[in-house]
Formats: sequence, structure tokens, C-alpha cells
Amino acid sequence: MEIKELISKEKIEKRIEELAEEISKDYEGKSIEFIVVLKGAAIFAVELAMKVKPNVRFDFIEISSYSGTESTGVLKVNKDLKADIEGKDVLIVEDIIDTGRTLSYLKDYLRSKKPNSLRICTLVNKPSRRIIDVPIDYNGFDIEDKFIVGYGFDIDGDYRNMPYIGYIEKI
Ligand code: 5GP
Repeated sequence: MEIKELISKEKIEKRIEELAEEISKDYEGKSIEFIVVLKGAAIFAVELAMKVKPNVRFDFIEISSYSGTESTGVLKVNKDLKADIEGKDVLIVEDIIDTGRTLSYLKDYLRSKKPNSLRICTLVNKPSRRIIDVPIDYNGFDIEDKFIVGYGFDIDGDYRNMPYIGYIEKI
């Protein structure tokens, strides 16, 4: 298996700074409830939170599919939130939006808990793969349809701590 660099560490850091600046302006004077989608978004969420000026509170959620295959598209909450988000300003922090299924499901799930506001921030977006349209409020990078690893992205649990985003050339 060969991994080729797609987005450098420097480019990721710079883009996260820009996203943090935008988020800081939009949430000025508020406290932001980060809902971090495990496990892929963990690294991104920490880096983003450190650069955001308003107060950030963290909670984590894990979504999985019943069968483990993409084709069924049936999702469930595997690990649920601890916090009560009613009346809170919630920002979903995702690693990647691919088909849009996870985010669409998550948005409906979180909306039912009546937050004051609900926005989405993703590090990476694969627009060509979209099946369900979900508006993105903060988007790090649009990429082509490649399978990426590093900076939180895994293949079978490996490579999450690579400091840049690479793609798999061949398996
Ligand atoms: P969805 O298709 O529901 O938008 O995305 C589901 C999940 O698929 C993402 O949260 C992510 O965990 C995984 N995924 C999609 N594309 C990639 C990729 O290129 N690399 C890795 N490691 N995971 C991906």
C-alpha cells in the first residue's frame, strides 16, 4: 500500500486558522458546544478549539451503521452525548462529508434535542460523492473522490496520527 501526500501539515494548519477566525467572528460573545464526531474528527476538533476565541465546550458522539457496510445506509448512535444541548449553540465538528448520510442523520438527531443553533464544520468535503444534500457552514477542503488517511483519518484504525492528509494510491 502506498500513501501519497494530498494536503500538507502546513496547509491544514493554515486552513484551520482561517476556519477558527470565521467561527470566532460568528460566535462572538457566545459559548460554543462542539459536538465532535468520533473518532475521525478528534484531532481536527482539538486543533480548531485551540484557535477559536470564544469559549468552547466539548461533547462527543459516535455514529455507526448497523451492518458495517455503506450500502445499507442504516445508522445508529453508538456512543451518545453526555451534555444537554437544549438552548445551546451547537457546532458539529466532522472529519469528512462523503455521501452526507452520517451528517444528515446526525443533524436530525441533534435538532430533536432543541439547540438554540446548529451548524456544521468539516475538515474535508467530497462533493462528487454526495447522496444526501447537507448544507455545510464551515468547510476546510473540497477534495476529489480519493480515500484519505492521516490527520484523524484511518484505514482499519491505523494512520490517524499522520500529521498530513494522504491518499491511498493502491491497496
Ligand atoms: P458519509 O458517507 O456518511 O458522509 O461519511 C461517513 C464516514 O465515512 C465519514 O465520517 C468517514 O469516517 C468515512 N469516510 C468517508 N470518506 C473517507 C476517506 O476518504 N477516508 C477515511 N478514512 N474515511 C472516510
